[in-house]
Amino acid sequence: MTGQHPVEIDTTRPHPARMYDWYLGGKDNYPVDEAMGRQMLELDPRVPVMARVNRAFMQRATTWLAGQGVRQFLDIGTGIPTEPNLHQVAQRAVPDARVVYCDNDPIVLAHAAALLRGTDEGATEYLQADVRDPDAILEGARKVLDFNEPVGLSLIALLHFVPDEDGAHELVGRLVDALPPGSHLVITHATADFTPEESAAATEKLKAAGVTLALRSRDEFTRFFDGLDLVAPGVQVPHEWHPELGDPIPGQSDGIIPGYGAVARKP
Ligand code: SAH
Repeated sequence: MTGQHPVEIDTTRPHPARMYDWYLGGKDNYPVDEAMGRQMLELDPRVPVMARVNRAFMQRATTWLAGQGVRQFLDIGTGIPTEPNLHQVAQRAVPDARVVYCDNDPIVLAHAAALLRGTDEGATEYLQADVRDPDAILEGARKVLDFNEPVGLSLIALLHFVPDEDGAHELVGRLVDALPPGSHLVITHATADFTPEESAAATEKLKAAGVTLALRSRDEFTRFFDGLDLVAPGVQVPHEWHPELGDPIPGQSDGIIPGYGAVARKP
């Protein structure tokens, strides 16, 4: 595990990983995260359902990848551990699966031990790094993953925190370029396409609290997969992507889930 420094948690402003933990009913969040989370709920009371739907997508996509023979996973923007985590899903299907997790938030580092409890046959590793530094991530990941074999790269509910100014599409391209054919890219992403007013209000509130939200349209989302082959059923709202691979989340169909999910294969 990299970054063995004392972990400094900034409790003066909300952090996405901790707000997400609060939506999921976790305990690894602070009053400042809950306060901002409650403001988001005022704009859309279904945010906790969205978080669970997103988590369920991660599980189904990981199960699907394992079914395709993918045995190595690189998950960036991992978040605070919430069972089952990606390695648990992957290693249930493929006991010797190798998983590298990566996040830039010190609170995830503080809880990384839970991400490292995998099977004896497999491997799990945690990297403290920023997705805006793809070379550092690739260097760390190469210590655990064999880049001659397919890798499942998952960026789940991450890229809407990376604005275009930070080169979101370019950095995804840089990561994908490093992977061999047969690798897969998995993304979920929030959008303003369905709820423009609420989304604009949420973006403003988060910005005032120091959190950048870069919501993207369907086209902008789809562009992350340029040069790759989208697998059926293509770009979907997350719960409509291979629903047969998991259980439905209560409330998922009661209204719009304002996000997209997709998986694509590198030819
Ligand atoms: N992928 C998890 C968590 C999503 S919350 C899930 O879907 O369940 C978004 C995560 O992205 C948070 O843990 C946050 O700390 C992380 N994140 C945000 N910006 C990041 C960046 N620039 N580099 C790495 N991780 C980032």
